[in-house]
Amino acid sequence: MSILDKNKVEHYNGISTLNNHSILKRGVRTMKYKVEVLTGIRPTNDLTIANYLGAVMPIIELQAQGISPVVFVADLHALTDNEPATIRQYIYGVVADYIALGVDPQKANIYLQSDIIGEVTTLTTLLSRHISVAELLRVPTLKDKLKANTRPETANTLLFLYPILMAADILLNRARKVPVGEDQLAHIEVTRLLARRFNKKYGEVFPIPDVLQVKPLRILSLKGEGKMSKTNPNGAIFLTDNLKTVARKIKSAETAFEMIVNEKLKSHILIAGKLAKTESEREEVDAIIQEHKTGKPVMGRFKQLFIRIVQNFLAEFQGKRAEIMRDPSYIPSVLEKGAKIARENAIETLQEVKRVLWLT
Ligand code: ATP
Ligand code: MG
Repeated sequence: MSILDKNKVEHYNGISTLNNHSILKRGVRTMKYKVEVLTGIRPTNDLTIANYLGAVMPIIELQAQGISPVVFVADLHALTDNEPATIRQYIYGVVADYIALGVDPQKANIYLQSDIIGEVTTLTTLLSRHISVAELLRVPTLKDKLKANTRPETANTLLFLYPILMAADILLNRARKVPVGEDQLAHIEVTRLLARRFNKKYGEVFPIPDVLQVKPLRILSLKGEGKMSKTNPNGAIFLTDNLKTVARKIKSAETAFEMIVNEKLKSHILIAGKLAKTESEREEVDAIIQEHKTGKPVMGRFKQLFIRIVQNFLAEFQGKRAEIMRDPSYIPSVLEKGAKIARENAIETLQEVKRVLWLT
């Protein structure tokens, strides 16, 4: 139809688009938040305790308060710097990790990002025209990657589009809160910026998402080389590490000289405090750190306690994970159910986006 065909111009909220002074602007159905909390993890390796603390633990706490989270396996994001065959091999593992960490498939929705690839890539394209090349080049995560292991000449464009792809995930779900580690904060800012720009131009299509934590975590590599990452195994504690490996990794971790509490030690204290199962273990951590501050050489004792806390946590987790992996049809069935719900939700959002862009 012609966009100027008066007879076919629709009415929303009782307002005709033609009376709205802009003949080209279509009336908007203001969209509401659909998902309270959304998080995603790239299937690039087994998960680390940093992934748990930064992205999964906050949603387990919300789930306990009756909120139903949505979690997804970000296989399209993984494609930026991994081979498809590698990604394939980690997908079910990430789902098993989520569930063993406490995401309850009865309450939460768990889906695979590529199961809604059409919706995700369509919205990525439609959002792309609302951000400039210069703005994307300023995103700190891209700048870091370009410095660390790739150059603009060799970096693929999917890496460049990463923040827009992430915005598409969040906005398709119409998520209110996104728990992320500190490393992803800039991406959430891009999401908010894109949503605001889009809304300003076409009407309030997207509810604006926010980060969940007031102060997102940054868990450091045990080796002190930047943040802990699952693709940098040297300084990472994986949830699937065997208990001896964990002890070895912690023993060789860098700490701090007496009286000094540097960023590395702060990160160890944070991990120990968050993974401790009991209040008395947390008090033990505090007591040792107090002694350290007064100049006593207690880092050996601290490491012993740190190892015990992490091993206890991992032993319980690994027992649950093994249980989940016993039934091979369980995970595909969880993902199938997840895809259905995610698709319905995404289609609903995308329909409105396309409508205001006169694409339907
Ligand atoms: P990769 O090396 O593949 O990028 P990663 O460990 O950075 O792996 P992602 O899949 O990129 O993990 O991120 C999953 C979630 O874990 C994100 O919400 C991210 O913010 C969080 N996260 C990752 N690393 C840390 C960290 N060191 N501290 C806190 N949160 C983190
Ligand atoms: Mg990452």
